[in-house]
Amino acid sequence: MSSIKYELWNRSLIRRVIDSGRVAHAYLFLGPDQQKKIWTAISMAKALMCSETGAFFCDQCPTCKKINSHNHPDVLWLRPSGARREIKIEMARSIQATLSLKSYEGGKKVAILIDADRMNTEAANSMLKTIEEPADNTYLILIAADVERFLPTIVSRCQQVYFPLEDRSSIVDFLASECHVEPSRAEVIASLAYGNYSEAIKYLDDDRLEWREYIIDLFFRIFHSETDIFELAETCEKRIIDRAELSVKNIPPDQAGATPDGSDLTSMERASVEKSVFNEEVSVFFQILELCCRDFIIYNETGDAELLVNSDKVEALSRYARGFSMERLLRCMVEIGNAFKAYQGNTKLQFVLEILFDRIQQELVA
Ligand SMILES: [Zn+2]
Repeated sequence: MSSIKYELWNRSLIRRVIDSGRVAHAYLFLGPDQQKKIWTAISMAKALMCSETGAFFCDQCPTCKKINSHNHPDVLWLRPSGARREIKIEMARSIQATLSLKSYEGGKKVAILIDADRMNTEAANSMLKTIEEPADNTYLILIAADVERFLPTIVSRCQQVYFPLEDRSSIVDFLASECHVEPSRAEVIASLAYGNYSEAIKYLDDDRLEWREYIIDLFFRIFHSETDIFELAETCEKRIIDRAELSVKNIPPDQAGATPDGSDLTSMERASVEKSVFNEEVSVFFQILELCCRDFIIYNETGDAELLVNSDKVEALSRYARGFSMERLLRCMVEIGNAFKAYQGNTKLQFVLEILFDRIQQELVA
């Protein structure tokens, strides 16, 4: 099937597909923003199944409400599970079986697979059969970042829809109108989110913005020659561990990698989930630190506060930025990238942070 690149994910585009009467049995939703793809999958399911005659989808009828709350018996949601976060053969078979049964409410059926590229080979082969021989009135939506890990035979049999990142103003509008975020805060979050709704939503949690404040402040503290780098690295690592522990506690059971039959995770699986949450927290830390350094470079070069990601921090940034040479700031940027790579290469985080903070201090506190 051909590949269509949609510019937007809104109702009118889904409507065009449905009105054309050429709805594919299998879609592959691609792109970096998970939330945007999930919202679209929900809209697509509602558009296909809404019981309100004449309406595209009404969002009010029992069908729409059940789909919105993930409680519709004919809309199957699946995501990878277990220590390896895999979609296994049992899951692929359950999709095939569910789609081939008569629907509970007598209409269409939709299966939505999140992180569908995490199918193992057996599952992928079984899925291929489901895609090749679709039952009437059944639709499959596979969600993934890109096509790389899919069997080419699956990719070629799905209608691909690519969801690009949004422009900044759309994220600001979304935050203001849907999430009631005050304008100045919406501007900052939109800058940090880089056109990605999923990222923007993470910043709605005040804690994440407060974490950014801490990291920016930490960057400034390194500039003081009397700062104890070792102590700073230790407290910083402790904060990351605390955040990860809190995140693990807050993961809903259906996303914690729970097994499809609802049984508890083994201790090994639990450790694997915890490790991936910790890695995510470390990655967020380095991203924010990198953005902070990037702002220094941009402000140093242009003096234009409008171009900064941390636009609300312009006063503090300007106080420091002018004193640093571009060459030294660029070297700091490289050091931040190298430190993250060292962590990914299994160097202990506290040690990575000690070396990084020490090098930044040496570069910038001449
Ligand atoms: Zn409806």
